Amino acid sequence: MAIPSIAVRGQRSLLRQIREALAGGGPAQTRLDMVVRVIAGSMVAEVCSLYMRRASGELELFATEGLDVNAVHVTRLKLGEGLVGEIMRQGRPLNLADAPNHPAFSYRPETGEDPYHAFLGVPLLRGGRAIGVLVVQNRTERIYTDDEVEDLQIIAMVLAEMVAGGELVAEEALKGVELAPHRPERLKGAKFSDGVAYGVAVLHEQPVTPSQLLADDVVAEEERLTKAIAGLQAQVDVMIEGQHGLVEASYEVLDTYRMFAHDRGWNRSLLDAVRNGLTAEAAVERVRSEHRARLGQARDPYLRERLHDLEDLNDRLLRHLSGAGHVARDLPENAILIARNLGPADLLEYDRTKLRGLLLEEGSAASHAAIVARALDIPSVGRLPGLRDRVSEGDPVIVDAESGEAYLRPRPDVVAAIRTRIEVRAQRQAAFARLRDTPAFTRDGAKITLLMNAGLDVDLDILRETGAEGIGLFRTEFQFMVAEELPRLDAQTALYSRVLDAADGMPVTFRTLDLGGDKVLPYLEAEREDNPALGWRAIRMGLDRPALLRLQLRALIAAAKGRPLRIMFPLVTSVDEFRAARALVETEVAWAERRGRSAPERLDVGAMIEAPSLVWHLDALLPMTDFVSVGTNDLMQYIFAADRGNPRVADRYDPLSPPALRALEAIQVACAETGTPVSVCGEMAGRPLEAFALVALGFERLSMPPAGVGPVKQMVLSCDREAARRGVSSLLKTSAGSVRNEIETLARKLYLAI
Ligand code: PEP
Ligand code: MG
Repeated sequence: MAIPSIAVRGQRSLLRQIREALAGGGPAQTRLDMVVRVIAGSMVAEVCSLYMRRASGELELFATEGLDVNAVHVTRLKLGEGLVGEIMRQGRPLNLADAPNHPAFSYRPETGEDPYHAFLGVPLLRGGRAIGVLVVQNRTERIYTDDEVEDLQIIAMVLAEMVAGGELVAEEALKGVELAPHRPERLKGAKFSDGVAYGVAVLHEQPVTPSQLLADDVVAEEERLTKAIAGLQAQVDVMIEGQHGLVEASYEVLDTYRMFAHDRGWNRSLLDAVRNGLTAEAAVERVRSEHRARLGQARDPYLRERLHDLEDLNDRLLRHLSGAGHVARDLPENAILIARNLGPADLLEYDRTKLRGLLLEEGSAASHAAIVARALDIPSVGRLPGLRDRVSEGDPVIVDAESGEAYLRPRPDVVAAIRTRIEVRAQRQAAFARLRDTPAFTRDGAKITLLMNAGLDVDLDILRETGAEGIGLFRTEFQFMVAEELPRLDAQTALYSRVLDAADGMPVTFRTLDLGGDKVLPYLEAEREDNPALGWRAIRMGLDRPALLRLQLRALIAAAKGRPLRIMFPLVTSVDEFRAARALVETEVAWAERRGRSAPERLDVGAMIEAPSLVWHLDALLPMTDFVSVGTNDLMQYIFAADRGNPRVADRYDPLSPPALRALEAIQVACAETGTPVSVCGEMAGRPLEAFALVALGFERLSMPPAGVGPVKQMVLSCDREAARRGVSSLLKTSAGSVRNEIETLARKLYLAI
């Protein structure tokens, strides 16, 4: 076949020729042979060979122009063996003037490659993984130009997608070729939201499909890319300038973003790829693949972090190209969503009825996505390194949030075991559901009021299902976190009305905005703080920005429309703060009355006890409050000086330890003495063993995530409070760092159902 000689930069026509060669039909091997011939011709190379990776890990010669054809499907190299094996291992090109002199060169007589000196090999990358290697060789000793390297990489990317898309190699020949990870894998991560699920992987960030690879109009495509890059750069600049405040990252990260976004090398690689005939999306994927392959292997945490920045930029650029945000997709039944990380609203865009689980490569249990997953009762595991490179769309996947693990492509026996566990959990759920209308009395007759934590509209649907007796903590900031802009008075009023309507007379405790710390709003300006958890957050922000707090109080009073209203303030640290906040409530009630609007039938104003300082000033605080609620998530982080969002320290200290339990006991005793209603609304209230300790300490109101209500009620019904009290009070005096084991033993001795 006559091969038209084309200029080095003529990739576009080369890609066309490859397409035409494929369209010609014929046996797969013939087509593949033609493709390597076309590439050799266009690259002015004497040899062009394609190696593919077998599942065994070996690289096999699949086609060649220039080497001995008898070596095809015969020559095999191990990972790291020979130059080709080395390219595969490193995932990056190798460009040599005199290949036989390279220490990694492995001589294979059957190929007849003796006379060739110049050697250029590039990996076939898919999603950052090398699935094969494409090589060109020349007799003369020379180094290939940067343009030639770039060209061969683009061809390799297109080949990789064509092979994977079944366009290039017969399916039979591909048997045993590792196009995508296929082995069962188990990844260890961290539990974000309890439960177990089995389903199929759905990638939140979708890869570009082979059909979108080649552009029809290069000039238009270049324009599209340039516009998207400019849009991205402007967006990043705005983020840095702080006009829209911080997004979620610190300044250093944003600064690196800016550096990368404006990086000429990155922009040039993208433009080159488009000029050579790729679509802008394919160009992004090509450059991304290369970065992943290069940086993904880096041990240096700094470099790995930079890879994350680049990933983020790539995702953003793809969004700019699509001209839209994330479009909700049709999900298969039993979808398990796979993502690097999610914003608070992302999860809500998917069809809840089909979403069975969530796996995240990053994130923390206190992240917004994890909080939303818990609110929706979607089992979730996070902090799974390398997750996205190891899983393909449609892979069977298990989320085991009981052990904090993910199983990718699990073996049938693992699936069977998981199905059994899902079944057992379902039976337990059914047992909890049967208890729904049973009031929670201990065996010795103490009434324990179980309430639910909420914060989103979706939570309201499950209020009745759980059997909770009301909402003990409504996190009003969630509405702000999922919104694109500051919710206005009418939007706030509408949400609070819906909540009160849904509660239908059951008590609802609204907590005023608890922003700051890890809850940052993209549209609200915030200064960078070295210690956000100790910084300008919650009531501190509310009192400094009284307009924002008053607007919210106005909305709450309007929504109550004469019904009873309960308001509480987060992170009160001194009695003066509570006094000032309470005065704002009274001002707003007076404002409403002056306008002839109805004041709440009954108004209860409370404080959250989250700062240790208040534990030592309860005698002053309690007489000013109508109730208090202990936010153990924050109280523990401040008692133990351990950032709750930092996985390195968050689980280091145990709330079931003498210092924590003594602080809780002090609060309970002070409240009992003054007759102040007190509840516990941190996550520990929803865990049966911890809830047992709280009941033993005398707490009678517990507010928890919806999934906790059933298990905690079952515990309460089996609990002898007096025996529990005696057992736990003796443990408070021990010198142990944690008394978890002892409390577990006590619970067993008392035949507790936990
Ligand atoms: C807490 O701190 O325990 C609490 C309930 O509030 P949040 O988790 O919203 O900070
Ligand atoms: Mg808190």
